[in-house]
Amino acid sequence: MPADAKIFFKQRVMTPGPTDVPPAVLLEMAQPIIHHRTKQFQAIFVQMTGRLANLFRTKGTVLTLAGSGTTAFESAMISLAKPGSKVITIAGGKFGERWQDIYDQYAPSLQVENIKINVPWGQAVTAQQVADALAANPTASVVALVHSETSTATACDLKAIAQVVSKSNAVLIADSITGVGALPMSMDEWGVDCVVTGSQKALMLPPGLGFVALGARAQERLKEVKAGAYYNLDLRRWVKAMADNDLPFTAPVSLIRGQNVALELIEKEGLETIWGRVAKLATASRAAFAAMGLKLISASPSDSVTGVFYPAGVEDSKFRGALRDKYGLHVAGGQDGRGAKWKTSILRISHMGYVDAGDTLAVLAAIEAELRTLGQKIDPGCALAAAAKVLAG
Ligand SMILES: *Cc1c(COP(=O)(O)O)cnc(C)c1O
Repeated sequence: MPADAKIFFKQRVMTPGPTDVPPAVLLEMAQPIIHHRTKQFQAIFVQMTGRLANLFRTKGTVLTLAGSGTTAFESAMISLAKPGSKVITIAGGKFGERWQDIYDQYAPSLQVENIKINVPWGQAVTAQQVADALAANPTASVVALVHSETSTATACDLKAIAQVVSKSNAVLIADSITGVGALPMSMDEWGVDCVVTGSQKALMLPPGLGFVALGARAQERLKEVKAGAYYNLDLRRWVKAMADNDLPFTAPVSLIRGQNVALELIEKEGLETIWGRVAKLATASRAAFAAMGLKLISASPSDSVTGVFYPAGVEDSKFRGALRDKYGLHVAGGQDGRGAKWKTSILRISHMGYVDAGDTLAVLAAIEAELRTLGQKIDPGCALAAAAKVLAG
């Protein structure tokens, strides 16, 4: 422990990634290193992979890559696109824009034509917009989009979109990095071909693992397409190793052990129960923000993260600094992108993973108190009253 650490000052990470990690998971990761080519490790890896498949609700293959969510998403994008084809990338926030940038970057080597659909930040793309894009580009080989756009706290109707894409020649790659394990998502039932997530959001692990779930159409596509100018991110390598319950390179053993325990916790609580809890925390937060007169940033709010615009006169870094220094509460600001500049104008709190009603009440109460300190006209206690009413119901 650092010498200046305050014992009676709990830190609560309520940013939409990374998120807090339960003690049982931290303890598991503190176990001694085991070699990755051993029966002992293989048994853990097989168990974790089975649990991941349950989490994604798929009978397909779930790959575990060392890297962040971006590593996993990039690997899916480049491994699944047909060279020489069109690809459709949909953005309404920072992460969707990143996926657009990645295909732009690979366009010369993959020879893909990147068809970009941009919706205003804070709005969700509709199934009709996706259908129109596919009708205009019937040979497109990929549709890439974000299920829960964390930068704008916005969720789209992935189920309806998957229905549209499954009737086309394209495979759907969904960034569900703040969807899986927080929002209802049923990969096989919905017909989503490829779903990507990361370890540090709803999966209650430190950053470091990316997951790529491949349904039947995505697995077929991998066989059809020859790998391009990339190596580590070629998913064919990972699928091939998976046939032997193995990873192609040194496995991040400690993270995988920790993830296995975190998934066991998820299994014990039950996925539906978790979805219900996340939705309730989000509903309570939205009620509290409404009571304080703060406007949501999203017209189609995701339940995994809530974002609001600051009232005039509140300075982002000072405000979040006060929450951190006075209350040990870590919340997120905004980001700048092509579609909007929200770096200093919004505040976001997470409802994913190891977060409960007490944490949520604490952050809402602290936000209210700090806004009042800054002279905002807010009825004392209104945020707590509104949130508690939802949480009690
Ligand atoms: C966090 C996040 C990412 C990026 O994940 P990294 O782990 O930072 O690479 C991508 N998409 C969404 C929606 C996210 O929330």
